[in-house]
Amino acid sequence: MKNSFRILTLAASLCAGLAFTAVAAERAGDQAEHAHKHKGGPNGGRLLETEPHAEFFVEKDRSVTIRFFSDDLKPVAVGEQTVTVLADAKEGKIKVEFDKSGDALKSKSPLPAGDGYNLVVQVRAKSDAKPQNFRFKLDLATCNECKRPEYACICEH
Ligand SMILES: [Zn+2]
Repeated sequence: MKNSFRILTLAASLCAGLAFTAVAAERAGDQAEHAHKHKGGPNGGRLLETEPHAEFFVEKDRSVTIRFFSDDLKPVAVGEQTVTVLADAKEGKIKVEFDKSGDALKSKSPLPAGDGYNLVVQVRAKSDAKPQNFRFKLDLATCNECKRPEYACICEH
């Protein structure tokens, strides 16, 4: 009686151990997968690798809204961050500046006409900090796969 109880306990703990290993392996797999995928901004914009993440989003009137998100994509109100966008447009280099608007940053002016030109988005943790620069092309066409604008596409290419 005692022996069979011991065997049962042993079997039960073995099972628990195996189940735990399986769950841990699955979790590790998930994380590896996430690290390889681009994360998309929750509002359909481009998520920049800042801390917290800045989402760059072009509105219909071509103004730009920057919102901030934690790693798990929870909204974070803008703090001391400042953003400047340098647009290398056909008419020349144009600097777009931002104002705080509620929990976000709003561009003071729209992006220059056309698309297909290069942008540098400079994000500073505060006004006198060194900027983190993000260079990408302004491509407003819609991606066939993820249905997001190309500048915010999250597909693997
Ligand atoms: Zn895509």
